[in-house]
Amino acid sequence: MKTKTAFVTGGSRGIGLGIARALAAEGWRLAINGIRSEGEVRDVLQSLRSLAPQVEYLRGDVALAADRTRCLDAIDAGFGRLDLLVNNAGIAPPRRDDVLEATEESFDRVFAVNLKGPYFLTQAVARWMIVQRQADASFAGCIVNISSVSAKLASINRGDYCMARAGTSMATRLWAVRLAEYGIRVYEIRPGIIATDMTAGVKEKYDRLIAEGLTLQRRWGQPEDVGRAVAMLARGDLPYSTGQAIHVDGGMTIGRL
Ligand code: NAP
Repeated sequence: MKTKTAFVTGGSRGIGLGIARALAAEGWRLAINGIRSEGEVRDVLQSLRSLAPQVEYLRGDVALAADRTRCLDAIDAGFGRLDLLVNNAGIAPPRRDDVLEATEESFDRVFAVNLKGPYFLTQAVARWMIVQRQADASFAGCIVNISSVSAKLASINRGDYCMARAGTSMATRLWAVRLAEYGIRVYEIRPGIIATDMTAGVKEKYDRLIAEGLTLQRRWGQPEDVGRAVAMLARGDLPYSTGQAIHVDGGMTIGRL
């Protein structure tokens, strides 16, 4: 276990930090990334380093091919292996515009960060994991995509986000099919309403909806809730379920009459 390495994109705050903390507590060596400078995340790195055996910060935009390559090269140089990729980095649309008004600019950026970037990052990581598997038959790679309940629920004021997250679901299934022969498990986690910077601007709205019963469990989800789910998958506790989506949404998506 001591040698196992995870790469968590967007791991310096919010859900990604919850995931990084949960993995650190289980002894994973961590590479986390984000778009802020290392100086801006110094405190976060310090707290993670008190938990994990090794933590490196890789600044980079997952939407940019050159940044993705630089991150993976740095992981190879610093850790020499990669066992787990968590595609967590993501953005909400810059503005919550109705689908009749939303812009192509928003669509392009949301798709680049939330779908295209992670898809090609997964492709590069998958190639590397296959090489690791061919060198060591006991190597068991794992890829976890953080999508959203928005993969299924239609929000007409962020259609681009919902469509990108639906795409993440298909990407999960595609990679699960392609990588099964190499013992690489691929999962999707669909968080519901999680308390992070992303949802801070709509806090009052969701406070009200949660109080009215939108979620069966009447509280906000916390980054730790998602972190614990990823740690479970990374540990191998759902070994016969590749390609599946796991909801971390307090029962929000159960259809009710
Ligand atoms: P957040 O608090 O806004 O944090 C986003 C993280 O992603 C930050 O670490 C940020 O880096 C990083 N990031 C953003 N754009 C990036 C880029 N282009 N390249 C690399 N890193 C980038 O968001 P969150 O709420 O934790 O969301 C994390 C993921 O969960 C997203 O994919 C989101 O779609 C999904 N999700 C969130 C919720 C929710 O209710 N919060 C629900 C369902 C799904 P910096 O810190 O450097 O800015």
